[in-house]
Amino acid sequence: MLARRCHAATTRAWTPLLASSSFLHARRSYIVLAIESSCDDATVALIDRKPSGPPVLIEHVKDSLDNTAAGGIIPLDARNHHQAVLAPMVRDLMIRHNISKPDLLCVTRGPGMIGSLSAGYNLGKGLAVAWDIPFVGVHHMLGHLLTPRFFQNQDIPQYPFVSLLVSGGHTMLVLSTSTTQHKVLANTLDIAIGDMLDKCARELGITGSMIAREMEAFIAADPDPKTTALSVPKALQFPNPLQNKQGRTGILAYSFAGFITSLRTFLEKFFPGTARASDLPLEARRELARRMQNAIFTHVVTKSKKALENAFETGLIQTGTGRPLDFVCAGGVASNMTLRSLLVTKLQDKFPPNSIKYHFPPPKWCTDNALMIGWAGIELWETARLQTDLSALPTAKWPIEEVLDIDGWVPRSEQENKN
Ligand code: AMP
Ligand code: ZN
Repeated sequence: MLARRCHAATTRAWTPLLASSSFLHARRSYIVLAIESSCDDATVALIDRKPSGPPVLIEHVKDSLDNTAAGGIIPLDARNHHQAVLAPMVRDLMIRHNISKPDLLCVTRGPGMIGSLSAGYNLGKGLAVAWDIPFVGVHHMLGHLLTPRFFQNQDIPQYPFVSLLVSGGHTMLVLSTSTTQHKVLANTLDIAIGDMLDKCARELGITGSMIAREMEAFIAADPDPKTTALSVPKALQFPNPLQNKQGRTGILAYSFAGFITSLRTFLEKFFPGTARASDLPLEARRELARRMQNAIFTHVVTKSKKALENAFETGLIQTGTGRPLDFVCAGGVASNMTLRSLLVTKLQDKFPPNSIKYHFPPPKWCTDNALMIGWAGIELWETARLQTDLSALPTAKWPIEEVLDIDGWVPRSEQENKN
């Protein structure tokens, strides 16, 4: 069946079929192998999609490239890392669980770094051919925003829901009305929030692979915050971008590029004679990290609130539905506890606690992982009833609003419809 489908015409702007209730109720059990390799984390997961009830994660494995020495991600190194580690990771995982062949392969197709994506995606295509099983090319950001729906209890986000996606490559507020229909309510005008946090952390002499996470720990490890606060002049305050000049308050977008410039300017102004921020005493570095992180989070929360208000005012989000709005915060930066509490606190005056239900995935599942790709693939497979033609290529750019508007989607065949 699969071989025949390889020659089927590819489609653009595919219209999903609605899942029939008989399909939802008569699902057979199936095993999903998921691979995610869009950046520098090589991750593989096995998921047991049971005939009823929540999906079960059999195991998830991760092998991240250590970028500490390089001081950032080098695309060729990341690609080589995936090419070296992914195949043995898949082999060992299958052997460990005594599974000779899964039923469905879900692999990140984009967006991301093309070399990294290709390594996982082409491995997935090869395995799909060898095993003669269907293949789903998954949108990476769809994986992030659908993550809380994997952890199925009575509280899973229901469409329509809103997601704040904050990662190393993206910052956006998205309204999702179905698995495949998404509208961006606010996006970054320049770089991503995680990218800027990483840049500032590096400037302050913090090291590590997931450097903004190290910065969170560095700030939290402060033995005496009151004394630390005095190590930097009060006048040193980071601005809230797209806010401070007339007419800019209403802009529904984020901007992070200015924070690193502010940090360097402040160094010259408040610490003359210090060449690099990393040369400052420990307390001053910690206080600068804290103020800078707070300013970046304040900015993302201020603009998200504005965009959410606007979505209600313009009717994009309906009021009076009788249930709270589900609000997901996902992506690597969402594992930050300061961001989580600031978001809830700052949204509270406009959106009281009973009007919004927050969903924060466990920190482990906020950063890139294969569980989210497996789950998004399952939703595409079961609900949109789609799979990806084996001729389709991975893609570095793939807007979340265009999940379906890409070549390569094909409908599931009757054989697979039994799942
Ligand atoms: P992702 O692109 O979704 O894998 O997320 C990676 C980004 O999240 C990187 O910029 C990390 O430094 C950042 N990140 C990871 N953990 C944290 C944390 N606890 N606080 C802030 N940023 C984090
Ligand atoms: Zn990501």
